[in-house]
Amino acid sequence: VMQRALFTRGALLTQQAAVARDCPLAARSAPLLQRLERSMSSVTIPPPACILRPLEVPYRYLFGPGPSNVPPRVLASGSRPIIGHLHPEMYEIMNDIKKGIHYAFQTENNMTIAMSGSGHAAMECAVFNTVEPGESVLIAINGIWGERVAEIAERMGANVHKLVKAPGGHFTNIEIEKAIGKHKPVLFFLAHGESSAGLCQPVDGIGDICRKHNCLFLVDTVASLGAAPIFMDKQNIDILYTGSQKALNAPPGTAPISFNDRACHKMFNRKTKPVSYLFDMTHLSNYWGCDGKAVRAYHHTGPVSGFFALRESLAILAEKGLEESWRKHKEVAAYLYRGLEDLGLELFIPDKDLRLPSVTTISIPEGYDWREMLVYIMKHHQMEMTGGLGPSIGMVMRIGLMGYNCEKTNADKALHALADALKNCKKSKA
Ligand code: PMP
Repeated sequence: VMQRALFTRGALLTQQAAVARDCPLAARSAPLLQRLERSMSSVTIPPPACILRPLEVPYRYLFGPGPSNVPPRVLASGSRPIIGHLHPEMYEIMNDIKKGIHYAFQTENNMTIAMSGSGHAAMECAVFNTVEPGESVLIAINGIWGERVAEIAERMGANVHKLVKAPGGHFTNIEIEKAIGKHKPVLFFLAHGESSAGLCQPVDGIGDICRKHNCLFLVDTVASLGAAPIFMDKQNIDILYTGSQKALNAPPGTAPISFNDRACHKMFNRKTKPVSYLFDMTHLSNYWGCDGKAVRAYHHTGPVSGFFALRESLAILAEKGLEESWRKHKEVAAYLYRGLEDLGLELFIPDKDLRLPSVTTISIPEGYDWREMLVYIMKHHQMEMTGGLGPSIGMVMRIGLMGYNCEKTNADKALHALADALKNCKKSKA
């Protein structure tokens, strides 16, 4: 093999000399030499032409349900030099993230970390750690997120009960208490921001109901954190998680999650090990310095750059203030609602107090093909809006203005693009 490699290299150099003699310009062309070299290499699968082209990423207005545009400051933080995931400086950054999550979630829970993974990682972590096979769980389903959590719980062998409403419907505390009383679950799941339907589910009082029935209260705030008020401690939420890529405006790929003492008691006194090693809170709590041990051991290599960016996004939220962030989302959403109604569009959630300020859903206007409208808006305005998801597909179009994107000027851009699509996609496929 060695001899062949030398021969090949020698032959190449001769070939290169010949090229240099016949064509001096080509001789200076490194890509040509590289191509010749590669054509004679021992690998049988050649490098793909597409990957040899320079990376191209267009600028898009991300006005869908996420990811949202990432502010330059957060992007810059993610491009800092990599340090080791077990270096003391990294632990400091992780401690800062933990404090930032305390503020964003309004909690003092020690067991607060960020998952190395997207919102789904936090969903799985919550269920895998607090539920054992055969135990009953109750999942409120009024869009795709309840469906997903039900599937996750089914896969790990839980006995899943569902409380189902059509997309856009919300649950009353009476309905919830009745179902909890009937099924006696160890865990009750609710999405605070049901992004597939654009609904913001009220959560006051539900934590108390869960306590009364000795059930853990798990809440998804992936689409609502920073956009609509949530108070983990005051509202007696036992497990709360979110994602990095929505109102927090960090790149996708990290997901804050917090467990209170009730949740810790349940998850650290189980008879069986959680089905996932990666998401096992016994290890993650040590990696995040939450277990009181002096040494943080290697468990997995955390996404170092993702954590830098998450820290910066939490810093921006802390500088701005939660109340100001909630106020701004509400104000810009109200401005958007007026503009949509002026265009003759119908808001999917009739009660404006139940609308999710970060993701607005409109009913699909009669006589229009929603897919065609979305393609038109992307093509002519470089703007992402989306259709429904899961059970809301074909029912809604979704416009997200969150965090950094939450500005009236952006609402104007979205309204302008929609008006243009309404003019140009009219009744084309109906
Ligand atoms: N829950 C909600 C409410 C969401 O909106 C999303 C993302 N759209 C998720 C969970 C899942 O998050 P991810 O895509 O980051 O896994």
